[in-house]
Amino acid sequence: MSEDITTELIEVLHHAREQAKFLRELGVENLALNFAGEPDSSIKPEIERAPVPLSHLPPVVAPSRKAVITSRAAGSDESLFGELGAPVLAARSSESLEQIWHDIGDCTRCGLCEGRTQVVNTHGNRTARLMFVGEAPGADEDAQGKPFVGRAGQLLTKMIEAMGMKREDVIIGNVNRCRPPGNRQPTLEEAAICRPFLFREISAIQPEVIVVMGNTALRNLLELREGITRVRGRFQDFRGIKVMPTFHPAYLLRDPSKKRETWEDLKMVRDYLEANKPRSNS
Ligand code: URA
Repeated sequence: MSEDITTELIEVLHHAREQAKFLRELGVENLALNFAGEPDSSIKPEIERAPVPLSHLPPVVAPSRKAVITSRAAGSDESLFGELGAPVLAARSSESLEQIWHDIGDCTRCGLCEGRTQVVNTHGNRTARLMFVGEAPGADEDAQGKPFVGRAGQLLTKMIEAMGMKREDVIIGNVNRCRPPGNRQPTLEEAAICRPFLFREISAIQPEVIVVMGNTALRNLLELREGITRVRGRFQDFRGIKVMPTFHPAYLLRDPSKKRETWEDLKMVRDYLEANKPRSNS
């Protein structure tokens, strides 16, 4: 066996072990496997497949599902800048993410611009069926210019992979695009100034589900008084798009006991996307 293949196998094994450890932390005891190369049409609901105990996990667990591209009618100019919470059935806007980011520019609309290194825009697959929304960039995101690349981001990547997806399949953004000093929560005013850009991105991307992580994301997308602990685990609506509130990964790093509930929420999202998968034409 060549040295390259051996190194690659060791990496795959390492990844599998890490992923199994993470799933065990989430409380998952059995895993329905979908091996690389298996055609999508053979993906069956979990209950129809024999569960494999995690202790017998074979080395290759990398999910083979490709990002599913949903074709939707393009075109309506319907504005999404109205008041929050209006149950407008979402229509894809005709603007591109580049246009939105161009409008944001080197933003000085609020005081957060003073402490930031750079604006951190939404990042990921523009045809994603699934979007994650957090609060605001931290130090790593501010340095790298991408959302969720620090410790919380690494946990988010594991959560996405536990759902059978890859990070490249989804799109990830924040309510605020500039790092608040000392990683404090953005004020109501700072959030209100920045979130219209997120709404425009949502309108351009039209994900089928948005996972809002933590109270800032929850309260800026949905008109709710209740906090994340009460609302999590129940699908909500943002202008015709399903929204699943759950805990923020940074909170999970502080209180790992909440991972189990978060996993329950993410399984609902995974099952919804699986049940509503667009049929392929072939
Ligand atoms: N926390 C967030 O809410 N967003 C990030 O991008 C990183 C950490």
